[in-house]
Amino acid sequence: MKKTSAESRIAELREQIREHDHRYYVLAEPTISDQQYDELSAELQRLEAEHPELVTPDSPTQRVAGTPLSEFRQVTHSVPMLSVDNTYSEGELREFDRRVAKGLGGETYQYVIDPKIDGVAISLRYEKGRLVLAATRGDGERGDDITQNARTIRAIPLQLKPPQRLADPPVPDVVEARGEVFWPLKDFQAFNEARATAGEPVFANPRNATAGTLKQLDPRIVGERRLSFTAHGFGEIEPFPKVETQYDLWRRFRAWGIPVSRYFQRADSIDAAVEFVHQWGKRRDGLDYATDGLVIKVDRLDQRDTLGTTSRSPRWCIAFKFAAERARTKLESVRFQVGKLGTITPVANLKPVLLAGTTVKSASLHNFDQIDRLGVKVGDMVFVEKAGEIIPQVVAVDLDARGPDVQGIRPPRKCPECESETVRDENGVFLRCVNPACPAQIKERLRYFCGRDQMDIEGVGPALVDQLVDQGLVHEFADLYRLEERRDELIALERMGAKSADNLLGAIAKSKAHPLARLLAALNIPHVGVNTAALLAEHFGTIDGLMAADMDALQEVEGIGPELAESIHGFLHRKAGQQTIEHLRAVGVNMKQPKRQTAGPQPFAGKTIVVTGTLERFGRKEVQDLIAKLGGKAAGSVSGKTDFVVVGADPGSKLDKARTLKVEVIDENEFCRRAGLT
Ligand SMILES: [Zn+2]
Repeated sequence: MKKTSAESRIAELREQIREHDHRYYVLAEPTISDQQYDELSAELQRLEAEHPELVTPDSPTQRVAGTPLSEFRQVTHSVPMLSVDNTYSEGELREFDRRVAKGLGGETYQYVIDPKIDGVAISLRYEKGRLVLAATRGDGERGDDITQNARTIRAIPLQLKPPQRLADPPVPDVVEARGEVFWPLKDFQAFNEARATAGEPVFANPRNATAGTLKQLDPRIVGERRLSFTAHGFGEIEPFPKVETQYDLWRRFRAWGIPVSRYFQRADSIDAAVEFVHQWGKRRDGLDYATDGLVIKVDRLDQRDTLGTTSRSPRWCIAFKFAAERARTKLESVRFQVGKLGTITPVANLKPVLLAGTTVKSASLHNFDQIDRLGVKVGDMVFVEKAGEIIPQVVAVDLDARGPDVQGIRPPRKCPECESETVRDENGVFLRCVNPACPAQIKERLRYFCGRDQMDIEGVGPALVDQLVDQGLVHEFADLYRLEERRDELIALERMGAKSADNLLGAIAKSKAHPLARLLAALNIPHVGVNTAALLAEHFGTIDGLMAADMDALQEVEGIGPELAESIHGFLHRKAGQQTIEHLRAVGVNMKQPKRQTAGPQPFAGKTIVVTGTLERFGRKEVQDLIAKLGGKAAGSVSGKTDFVVVGADPGSKLDKARTLKVEVIDENEFCRRAGLT
């Protein structure tokens, strides 16, 4: 078959995107800007949407694919993932070296040294160059299959790079790379800030947050968080390449497109290794990931075999860990912050103390469970740590130094902002103010409503929001759109004036016309972010369509499970939610999602179609895109509104449900016929 121009452009774009990923993650030498990269991705997405038949699972656009899992499958590692012995002292490091020297009986040896990333260990398996499995370490023998989640991490190649020159050796049939998934500090910090702004509890540190993210059953959530990956070891490799050392194997990994540390280094002796350790103690703060030490390994692979392993860990490898940076200071008082959903977070006010180069005046106490666990009281001398974490944390209490006048920290019975009663949430960890009119919450929600990814109203900063609420100009979102009538009062606000008031009114008026997706993202529906809002808007088209949807209808939207459906349904059917929407409608805010431009025949127009099982000719995402392109709705579950169900190999319970509900069931050939493909 002749290649069409679209087909060759798609191939070209995929190749370019893979190359830029390689330059960014493996070589750390990007040659284009983020914006240029996004443009390439956007062009590829557009072309693939126009030609769904050309979408392949290893296309860079298919990183986030598949549906949320109900649980992770357990997999057995081909080679166990052992743990590494730790030490904190130079003496023990030299002791390790003496054991290595003895074990090798006089042979010379070298070490390779690598900063230890404080992340989550996983194993990646490539067969014929394609990523087929990603698994967590688990107990070392068996871990969870997290392939869907790993695919969303751009540093992990979906496909290994083939040899660039004829003389280069081929990529082995099986390559297992082992390494750490981690959250680069800059991205982690930005993510936490966004959560804080949204009134959601922040993550304590990047490692815990990474572990929590990899446990998400919905790959879209993982895709939104910018995790990264660096390899530091290997499992099965078959056939094994002609290399004798880890050092040379890393060079192969790099050539195949697997990111390895940019800092790995050889040391001829333990003295050189110790020297390197000391240097790193000073350098590590400058890295873009949290590191708590270095890993020192014998370089030659045959010598590793000679040394062997104990039942727990290899004899050829040791981790030197830096003691966490810690400071001791007085907990002077505790303040309570109220987020946009009313979550009340306790924060420790500390006597200022120097820690890891910065002066620390406050530290997170996270929640009241944490306060109980620590047994901390106001007036205590506490230890504060910042080991890779961005936000300093109170980690322990110096009980020996406790005076007679310490005071227990009681969860506030009343909201510190509005004095209404507080309640514990379902799992009892967080305390909330449930007063919908709480000014602290209204302010947080308003800031969020005007945010760039929501209604995008420029000029509404925290200071203005405070004034608008405190001066009684705004009680609810719709009041923003009524400010026109109160222009004089607006101008009278501090630092306002006629010109900025008119600019502000202009920006507010403009936001009325935004598509429904933005409005849904702005309403503060629990757990509904930008992506879910867009899915809902596209599926239902209007706010009335969405409000008419019952729990089943909501779950027909691909990617929306029972929990999310309940949250959405609850919001839309409570009086407060309905009032919010009706008031916004009354002031003229758009409640519709513009129809996507469609071209070509629409044989599935108005049809709701469910696919179950594996099709021969299409991947999951492909068939969904095809249905959408032909005017239909690809739904995630069967209901009375389903027009027909397409059944592939190994169909699931959806087929049973279709039979129970007497919904038409067709096979792949019939589907192709109806789609006009045969
Ligand atoms: Zn309150």
